[in-house]
Amino acid sequence: MTLARAPLPFALPLAQADILRRRAEILARLCALDEGFCTVPVSGVRGDTLQTLLRLYDERFLGGFLRAKMPMLHVTLSFRLVSAAGKFLYAQRAPGQIAHAEIRLSGDFLMRLQDGPFSLNGLTVSTAQEAFLVVFEHEFCHALEVALCGQTGHSARFLSLANGLFGHTATRHSLPTRRQAAAQNGLLVGSRVRFAFEEKALCGIVTYIGKRATVMVKSPRGAYHDPRGRRYDKYYVPLDALTRLS
Ligand SMILES: [Zn+2]
Repeated sequence: MTLARAPLPFALPLAQADILRRRAEILARLCALDEGFCTVPVSGVRGDTLQTLLRLYDERFLGGFLRAKMPMLHVTLSFRLVSAAGKFLYAQRAPGQIAHAEIRLSGDFLMRLQDGPFSLNGLTVSTAQEAFLVVFEHEFCHALEVALCGQTGHSARFLSLANGLFGHTATRHSLPTRRQAAAQNGLLVGSRVRFAFEEKALCGIVTYIGKRATVMVKSPRGAYHDPRGRRYDKYYVPLDALTRLS
């Protein structure tokens, strides 16, 4: 099913000026409701602010289509989500029968944003709050595509929704996730690093980067071993406590 053949229950594409006006109105409403959301950096986002965000976008851009078609859709803020700024998760009981639908936004990501401009999904915005909205818009389009077509991805169909509703021209953003920020400092999975532990300097290999890095350190009686039988201890180390070894 393509969007061109399916009659849409909302206007698409919108004029650029229309998009900017609606986004600005939504932001003003949210800031009036939740002071923490409007500080720099963002100091907190209330749960009801997230549901209002969804409701306002649905009303202003889709005339309430998602509330009717996907009433279980809700928005959450996760501090464990560090690999992406946002995610859309859903589960179907059977084709067309959605049991769970959630837009999960990364609180870790949002609260690290300081001064813009930020480039996301082909747009440039100046504040952390606008960046948050643009991340939300991307996930909102995933939810909409599932509501319309039963599945979602980053296809031309997805892009025509994201572009027509929100002016997005790409599905990538340049806001650094922790992993990307670490990579900018030369830290990658596989990097050799040194860190201090109980007054000792330990050296090891990074095997995962999230809020902290997982570092495997060779140890004769370590609990972990590689295919060649070498043994390791595992450490979880804050990223800024690691020194990369060349
Ligand atoms: Zn996506």
